[in-house]
Amino acid sequence: MEHINQAALRAELSIEQQQHLSQCAQCQENQALLQQLASCASDLALEAPPANVWQRIEQSRTSEQTQSASNKWRNLSATAAMLIVGMFGWLSWNNYQLQQQFTQLLAANMALESQLVVQQSISYPQAHIFSQLEAVEQQLVGAQSLQKKLVLLQQRQQYINQIIKLQRGNNNEYYI
Ligand SMILES: [Zn+2]
Repeated sequence: MEHINQAALRAELSIEQQQHLSQCAQCQENQALLQQLASCASDLALEAPPANVWQRIEQSRTSEQTQSASNKWRNLSATAAMLIVGMFGWLSWNNYQLQQQFTQLLAANMALESQLVVQQSISYPQAHIFSQLEAVEQQLVGAQSLQKKLVLLQQRQQYINQIIKLQRGNNNEYYI
């Protein structure tokens, strides 16, 4: 039997599919990823990302500068939400391997995002990477092929990584 595609994994499984799932590590992993993404997506859809993070943003929103920083964080999760919603629209695509890669990459992106520390302000080097990140995200939303989205998602991951490194490595930067 072939692997179960993502559309089927989210619907009710037939007895044959259930049997396959119980024996196939790859499909089990895919199902777990989908569940993970679905729970993230519902959080984002409600615009209620982890309360502690957003509370801190709201509390720190005392100046326009801070507001522009918090807008960046909002945009970041909005893009993730859009990508997830987009992915569920691609379920008719039958390239299982690419779908799998995309799901994993998206999960990796979201895991990285959760490591970002929401700050009251953003340093110049961070702001520079953020602008590159925004450019990649715009392309991501408009990208027509899954291959293209995969490449862009990898770039996005690198930028998020760079921001995390900056956040961890340097506390003496200039802030805007
Ligand atoms: Zn399978």
